[in-house]
Formats: sequence, C-alpha cells, structure tokens
Amino acid sequence: MKKTDIQCPDCAAAYQRIELVSRRGQPGAYRCKVCNRVLETFDGATEIVYRLTVVPEKTFA
Ligand SMILES: [Zn+2]
Repeated sequence: MKKTDIQCPDCAAAYQRIELVSRRGQPGAYRCKVCNRVLETFDGATEIVYRLTVVPEKTFA
C-alpha cells in the first residue's frame, strides 16, 4: 500500500491517495470533488482510492 498526498492544482483541495498495489482496480478517472478537474486517470492495474482531506475555502460555481 502506497500513500501519497495530492493537491488539486485548480482549487487547492487536498487529497490522500492510497494505492493498493495488491488489488486490481477499475479503469477510469478520478475527478476532484470540489471543481471536477481530472486528477488522475487509472489503467486498472492497481486499485487507487482518494480521500478528500482539505476542502478549499473558495467556492466554485
Ligand atoms: Zn479541484
């Protein structure tokens, strides 16, 4: 299991990214929950989980 801290470059929301290298995931993409920017695309080789840790104060319409 690999843990990394990630910050959205658009809205500065912070995420903890956890990669479960022993498990296969679903191909697709993870989008920022705040601004909907694509943070990462997955090929499904490993399972990747994101947890929102810091919500930026600015709000986006
Ligand atoms: Zn964002």
